[in-house]
Amino acid sequence: MALTNVVTQVVDHGLCSGCGVCVGVCPSSALDMCTLANGDLAAYCVDKCSEHCDLCLRVCPFANGLYDPRQDNVNLYGPKAQSAATFQEHIGWQRCCFVGFSQVENRRSRGASGGLVTWCLEALLTNGLVDKVTVVRLAPQSSGSLFEFKAAQSVEEIREAAGSVYHPVAISDLLREMVAEPDTRWAVVGVPCLCAAVRRATARLPRLQQSVRYILGLACGMLQNTMYTEMLLAKSGTCLTDIAQIIYRHKSPDGPANDYGFIATNREEKGSASLRYMSLPYFLGRNAYFRYNACNYCKDVFAEVADACFMDAWLPEYATDPQGTSLVVVRTEALEKLLLAGVAADDLQLDRIAPERVVLSQQSQVRRKQELLRARLPRENEAGPEVVSASWQERFDWWLQRATQYRSKRAWDRYGRGYGRFAFWVAMGDLATFQVIFTKVMPWLMSRPRRVMRKMANIFGHIRNRL
Ligand SMILES: Cc1cc2nc3c(=O)[nH]c(=O)nc-3n(C[C@H](O)[C@H](O)[C@H](O)COP(=O)(O)OP(=O)(O)OC[C@H]3O[C@@H](n4cnc5c(N)ncnc54)[C@H](O)[C@@H]3O)c2cc1C
Repeated sequence: MALTNVVTQVVDHGLCSGCGVCVGVCPSSALDMCTLANGDLAAYCVDKCSEHCDLCLRVCPFANGLYDPRQDNVNLYGPKAQSAATFQEHIGWQRCCFVGFSQVENRRSRGASGGLVTWCLEALLTNGLVDKVTVVRLAPQSSGSLFEFKAAQSVEEIREAAGSVYHPVAISDLLREMVAEPDTRWAVVGVPCLCAAVRRATARLPRLQQSVRYILGLACGMLQNTMYTEMLLAKSGTCLTDIAQIIYRHKSPDGPANDYGFIATNREEKGSASLRYMSLPYFLGRNAYFRYNACNYCKDVFAEVADACFMDAWLPEYATDPQGTSLVVVRTEALEKLLLAGVAADDLQLDRIAPERVVLSQQSQVRRKQELLRARLPRENEAGPEVVSASWQERFDWWLQRATQYRSKRAWDRYGRGYGRFAFWVAMGDLATFQVIFTKVMPWLMSRPRRVMRKMANIFGHIRNRL
């Protein structure tokens, strides 16, 4: 009988999000991580699995083809958990929500949004609540990966790793360390699928439960694979093998918070020009270039199994502040107390905010990941959420995104890497044209006053008659 494991059930179905938790907990070290030709970081088999072990499948959020965090959220923070939580349809059970930023030195300017995650990690460490925290930073070239999870044990190490990394990173090596040293207390930071996998692993491995004390989530719209960064590096003229630093969200003092820049610095300390988010990065993200397929089957925007979830305050009153502002959904008393202590010490500027406003700030992610999920599920999957009707534009957009997701990975592998960006765009020509029409030309036309539209219709009518 062929053995089933995460590779046969998840990776081979294109549903691995590359978190690396299965690899980290595999008792027979039969799994490892690799970057596939399509740019996805994924688990693969290096050895035969033990016959009666299904731990990798038990920890993987995508083992059933769809990751819905709600049941775990209810178990962890619902009424039975007695955490005095309230329920919000899209966020799940939570205690309270805050909006604000860190006021300490340059935490806010270096942070992805308001620098709250960096502040929390530092506070957990300096208050003696944990011994180590996970951060993500550039990996040594010899490792074969661009970024890696690292253990930080000092405030300096945490500060150096501030900012968001839009690149797949696997936590497998650090998880092995956590299992090996259960007396070391950790705080783990990650996107929702990684938080879910770590949470499931702690429920199955007492040693891990002992070491992982806090899980901090980052809200997530979707993950892009390694090719996203390759493309941005190519556009900014920096060689992949010569990187000293990559900042995905460089804040500009005179721009809005949501138009940060991508900057890469090479080993001679020569920085590339800032690539504004609203240009190529937004176009790639909006249209699902290099997107992980797993993200199409993930319902979790707000890291529902994390003790707290941090995100950008994409609300009109905060989005214009170039320094960045964070929102945080808090699910445990300990983290609420920690944050309020930060306010009392003048480290943090925080106000309470209604959960509905938090949902509003992530409106497009909630619509796509939660409400439109049903439209993406295979017909036979009845486990999906209630039907929410998708407009024809949304259905067409999904068709376009799915085609782009697959083709962009093939096109970058075959043409982009070998012949450059121009060859890639030629291969993407028809889909990219549709996207420009759909996302730029059509909204522009729709926003024109009727009088201009009538004039244009007259011009087109005139041309048609002449032909
Ligand atoms: C892939 C991805 C998608 C996201 N999507 C959204 C979204 O749709 N909407 C939204 O509002 N916010 C999103 N975020 C979260 C947002 O970018 C910020 O991370 C969040 O607002 C926290 O900001 P901060 O200033 O408090 O964090 P900081 O103080 O800058 O600290 C961030 C911490 O997270 C760590 N980190 C960075 N990247 C990763 C990573 N990939 N995995 C694990 N740890 C990491 C850093 O090492 C650092 O310690 C996303 C983040 C990521 C990584």
